[in-house]
Amino acid sequence: MYLIMNPKDQVKQALSILDVVSTYIRVEKAGSQFKARCPFHNEKTPSFFLSPDRGTYHCFGCGEHGDIFSFVEKMEAVPFYEALTILADRAGIKLSPYKKEEKDKEPNLISLVQKANKRYEENLQNSAEVKAYLGDRGLTSETIKKFNIGFSLGADFGWRDIFIYLSKEGFSPEEMIEAGLVFKKENEDKYFDRFRGRVMFPIKNTFGNIVGFSARILPKFDDGKTAKYINSPETPIYHKSKILFGYDLAKKSIADKREAILVEGQMDLIMSHQAEVTNVVATSGTAVTDEHIKILKRFADKVLLSFDQDEAGENAMKKCAFLALYGGLDVYIIPKKENVKDTADLIKEFGGEVWKDLISKRVHLIEYLVNNIFEKNNDERERGREVRKEVLPFLRAIESDIDRAYFIKYLASKLNVQEIDILNELKRVKVENVEENISSINKEINLTDKNKFLREILVILNWKKLDEEKFFNKFFEAKDIYKEKFLEFKKDLPEEILEQEIIRIEKEISKNKLYIENEKKFITEILGDLAKVFKIEVLQEEKKLIENKSEKVEEDFQRIGEIYQEIHKIKNLK
Ligand SMILES: [Zn+2]
Repeated sequence: MYLIMNPKDQVKQALSILDVVSTYIRVEKAGSQFKARCPFHNEKTPSFFLSPDRGTYHCFGCGEHGDIFSFVEKMEAVPFYEALTILADRAGIKLSPYKKEEKDKEPNLISLVQKANKRYEENLQNSAEVKAYLGDRGLTSETIKKFNIGFSLGADFGWRDIFIYLSKEGFSPEEMIEAGLVFKKENEDKYFDRFRGRVMFPIKNTFGNIVGFSARILPKFDDGKTAKYINSPETPIYHKSKILFGYDLAKKSIADKREAILVEGQMDLIMSHQAEVTNVVATSGTAVTDEHIKILKRFADKVLLSFDQDEAGENAMKKCAFLALYGGLDVYIIPKKENVKDTADLIKEFGGEVWKDLISKRVHLIEYLVNNIFEKNNDERERGREVRKEVLPFLRAIESDIDRAYFIKYLASKLNVQEIDILNELKRVKVENVEENISSINKEINLTDKNKFLREILVILNWKKLDEEKFFNKFFEAKDIYKEKFLEFKKDLPEEILEQEIIRIEKEISKNKLYIENEKKFITEILGDLAKVFKIEVLQEEKKLIENKSEKVEEDFQRIGEIYQEIHKIKNLK
């Protein structure tokens, strides 16, 4: 029998959930399933499970679940149709060509941007001038191809080259605007290209699809009035806080080495690749966010920083180092060569071997900061004050107890004081200072973590049938409801994994005994809330079932009424 499958099913058949997820995160085998540390919430032990048979994922920590499409939608923060395009591209499946007439069709910005870059690449190949400029900056023609570097035509083409080209390809002006390539002049019914007379460096997502651009003005067009670099604006497919320049190409060698090198500009990154140092990514002119750190942490334990040799570079480096430490990465600084502005210049002037040599001479962030202070100050007390101000906040952000202990020892011997003195000072470092840099996203994650921990306690109590009824009174009021939830939980987990999970959670509980003792009141309250949430969820499911019945009887309507009342009652329960 011949079956015509829709593109979604074709793609689903061609790509396994394991393929897609392991493009983004490190996955390990667990019995008949696979598990990973959840990319959607912060956790140290994996509770994110893949089921290859069903082609789905499920996180027992935060409840995220879905298939390859929803995974890419969430990871890239793109709408469904863009996720489909990304995955179809990966599977080598052609989606039906875009036609303007199909008005109800979703806009397809990924296709649009790939098309646009074809044009930019052609423009570059046709311009001896642009090629000469890039050659001058040290790029080979292989590198230009590898990074799909292009050129946007300037004023001599009426500022409308890409607009006209994409119009002929069947894209609408609205889509071009949405993709950030075109803008409309106010009070004028005319569209213009956003990028004009610029070298176009494509910014790619994890799968290597182009989603935006960083564009450098060609020197001959530089009138000093426009910015040297401009980037694509935020679009439905490009979120600057979630994308690191070069990540698609660097991912594999980052995973092999378990370390990533972070540089500032795309030229730094491209020159480094050309010098065969490939575990490099660039922030590309945007501030580093904790989202970027999370991306690095998927495959790396260490990050090596090589920022520009100026005050702005030093400040950006410190902010980034802080976020990286706080995110659980080990941070090293790559030493600089005197009077060399950035990594690109270094490689161009001194060659790749010097770059590799400097990488091997990396210094841990704490030592780097201390060395700087010691170079500037001779006075012992002054040094101590500077260390307290400049170094201790970083020391406090170090996640590993062992590492922190090591550096406390190091600082004590450097400053000629007792370790206990450093420890006491460390306690006085204000928590606000440490946390002000962390975005609200991260704080939400921590809350979810607490929630998750409590959910796990519930699982254990139920599993072991612990007689804690007095303490967990409120919880047991909803015991039956909870049991249903628990069975649902169990249904998805093979027996052997469940056992492992339980041992892990038990350990966590014994580790947190003190916390439970101290927070009895808080926990009881939260448990009460959770029980309410579960109860409401179950009632709503029941309601949905009844509502979906094709033929309803009198009792059904009565039951729906009761459910409404029950939900209302639970919500108002104190
Ligand atoms: Zn999760």
